[in-house]
Amino acid sequence: MIPLIMRKREPMITYDKKSDSIIRNNRKVIYAKMKDLVLNIENLEQLYRLYDDLFFNNQLQNQLAKKLSFSLSARMTKTAGKTMRIRQKNDIAYEIRFSSVIAKDIIASNNKSVAGVCVSNQLEAFMIVMEHELCHVIEWYNRNTTNCKQKYFKQMANDIFGHTSSYHELTKETNERAHATKVNVGDEINFQYKGKSHIGTVVNINKRATVMVKNIFGRYKDTEKKRYDKYYVPLAHINKNTEKI
Ligand SMILES: [Zn+2]
Repeated sequence: MIPLIMRKREPMITYDKKSDSIIRNNRKVIYAKMKDLVLNIENLEQLYRLYDDLFFNNQLQNQLAKKLSFSLSARMTKTAGKTMRIRQKNDIAYEIRFSSVIAKDIIASNNKSVAGVCVSNQLEAFMIVMEHELCHVIEWYNRNTTNCKQKYFKQMANDIFGHTSSYHELTKETNERAHATKVNVGDEINFQYKGKSHIGTVVNINKRATVMVKNIFGRYKDTEKKRYDKYYVPLAHINKNTEKI
């Protein structure tokens, strides 16, 4: 006999694919409301409510209510943020912890990129970290598991926020790769853009490398009438050999 009384399953948190312009505009609205605030726990909660409102129609607050909390740690030095799931008696709660030190490292580094999104200050770095960690909470809530190295998470973070990578251990990786990757003009290099791998030639190096990638429909033409697309690639995103990354 199958018992007739089943635990009522709460509705899933839903989301839709957002266009780049909607993502940009939403971020602008959030940034404008947060830019003069000190980043303490209360303001992180405010940041979360703004994201919930603009990206999720307040579903997170409705479904999770007080089951999601935030913390800020100066001792967390390996990753910019992490989400923890806490089991309480018959319930589950989540905590998103932000590192108060890593964001500064990101801004001081050459890369200045979080989850594939360029950032120029601490608030912008915190915003992208919040986006990534909210994806963890949603996946955990909906699927009872979460892993940002897996396809499902990557697709979700890309659909909602346009993310193209994760950021865990970001500064360590950034520094190592920047040292390991000595890029010169004329090098053929490999990089990822919007989840696709591209091969191109470096034509200029500044904070980012200017890379021309062959494309028969490209906007740029050389003297031999070959066509190219132009990309500006953060140095830490460059793989010097042409293996797939
Ligand atoms: Zn993650």
